[in-house]
Amino acid sequence: MGGVENSEPPLKRVKVSLGDLKNLVDEVSRIVPVSSSLGDLMARPLCSQGAEETVGMKGVIKKQEVVKIITRALYSLGYVRTGALLEEESGIRLHSTAVALLLDQVQGEKWEESLVTLHKIGLSDEITVKRASFLLLEQKFFDLLKEENLMAALDTLRNEIVPLSVNVGRVRELASCIICPSQCMALRISSQDGTDANSRSRFKEKLEKLLPAAVMIPERRLEHLVEQALDVQRDACVFHNTLDSEFSLYVDHQCGRNQIPSHTLQILQAHKDEVWFLQFSHNGKYLASASRDHITVVWEVKNFLKAFDCGL
Ligand SMILES: [Zn+2]
Repeated sequence: MGGVENSEPPLKRVKVSLGDLKNLVDEVSRIVPVSSSLGDLMARPLCSQGAEETVGMKGVIKKQEVVKIITRALYSLGYVRTGALLEEESGIRLHSTAVALLLDQVQGEKWEESLVTLHKIGLSDEITVKRASFLLLEQKFFDLLKEENLMAALDTLRNEIVPLSVNVGRVRELASCIICPSQCMALRISSQDGTDANSRSRFKEKLEKLLPAAVMIPERRLEHLVEQALDVQRDACVFHNTLDSEFSLYVDHQCGRNQIPSHTLQILQAHKDEVWFLQFSHNGKYLASASRDHITVVWEVKNFLKAFDCGL
């Protein structure tokens, strides 16, 4: 893992670490949080692709983006061979060589190498590079602690993580790990959710979210686009009166006039004057009606029997 060689006995090692830690905490407390405005977090395109081939009638959908999103969806659905075949047949790679290498190195927990590769994937936003470096170095720090290589962990924290000037609060939490290893385990678990496989997957998700979409296609991007389309169709449906489960991707959604209830199904007879107000309960099981004669009735929708009534 490239940590600092540690040949000192454990007792002496802890003593030195605590002394260094005080300096470290002082150092951390002087750090001014970096700006985290929305503008900083926005993904920036790597470079201009020039005139691109488009699909669709309006000429606004870039073919390369469509193919990449489909490829990503295929991999997400578990169709790995088909995804690879699409990449080969289209000549459009889901990830650049550098990004693919970075993912392999992350998978193999090669934090030093992944840090080098991170700087080669062409990110123009310095803040994004720092935040991604922080994530990778955090993993390196945890691994060193797990190996009980306290001095190397401290060295990583002080000389690699702190100078990034990112997430000062988290740096303080990491510093506390030097003193209390159990705190370290709690931090790692809370940030990564349980088992090794799950934690690695969660870490990859965090890294993916951090990188610009043009560099790494977001997980479930295709599903997100389809759901957006369904939302727009539902909102535009003038006579909407169906459940979402009845939606189909094969046709555009549109409820007809005939789906609006137009026949009398039940006459509720409890009020002796005009009914002024009706309200269903949130779970749909009850209906409240209030009338001019100051009577309120709550009905069970299932059979439209009176649950109870009261006068004001
Ligand atoms: Zn509808």
